[in-house]
Amino acid sequence: VLEAVAIDKYYGSNHVLKNVSLEVHPGEVVCIIGPSGAGKSTFLRTLNRLEVPDSGEVWVGGQPMGFELRGGKLYELTERRVAAQRARTAMVFQHFNLFPHLTVLENVIEGPVQVQRRKAREVRSEAVAILERVGLGDKIDQYPGQLSGGQRQRVAIARAVAMRPLFLLFDEPTSALDPELVGEVLEVMADLARDGMTMLVVTHEMAFARQVADRVVFMADGAIVEQGPVAQVLEAPREQRTQQFLQRVL
Ligand code: ATP
Ligand code: MG
Repeated sequence: VLEAVAIDKYYGSNHVLKNVSLEVHPGEVVCIIGPSGAGKSTFLRTLNRLEVPDSGEVWVGGQPMGFELRGGKLYELTERRVAAQRARTAMVFQHFNLFPHLTVLENVIEGPVQVQRRKAREVRSEAVAILERVGLGDKIDQYPGQLSGGQRQRVAIARAVAMRPLFLLFDEPTSALDPELVGEVLEVMADLARDGMTMLVVTHEMAFARQVADRVVFMADGAIVEQGPVAQVLEAPREQRTQQFLQRVL
């Protein structure tokens, strides 16, 4: 289970997350929607501790993010150990963040070997299999600069999957892509979802939410306004703010 409990976050005097709580269960696909500035990215980043919340806790698979639980007490982890912990909630960003000087395969292998200290040989064969699965089996020795945006984003997804995360976090993974490249990336995500991967996806792709998500969360102004099964939130939203948002995007 991924559990965010009463998360608050300020940037200076800007209160960007207001008491946000959310639970995601194994096998679930949850989509977060909401207007620009709602705090969706900030919330996702607090989940894997790229941002440290001002208050509240994040628990991933029974462990508190950023801390170690010993004898009923929480001890803050070093950044190196937080990095290893972060792999449990691997994140895919809008702008791929691939290493340009590494090949596709090296990009995928880097995290498991450098951060998780797994054996390069074992990681390599797993990485090849993952790259084949995202349709890039013939690109493993190319460099990111030689790939299309859709292919780069699929490398980024492969890189996240290679960390063997408990949860995959996506922050608008298709919004920087040319329209004709969006489909191939959503396809890979839907394939992972069908395979049982637990995913939390910030997206503006309502068709994807409708087809793939189990649950939709609507955020506005730093808070979760409404959440529920896809059909309920998208077709019969209870809150006026959700209705207004959906009228604009649908
Ligand atoms: P979008 O749909 O545009 O991506 P969002 O819902 O992801 O929006 P956030 O990026 O989380 O929204 O931003 C929430 C609020 O926090 C905004 O008011 C934004 O200006 C502010 N903010 C985000 N990141 C920072 C930062 N690093 N420093 C200061 N303020 C920030
Ligand atoms: Mg954002």
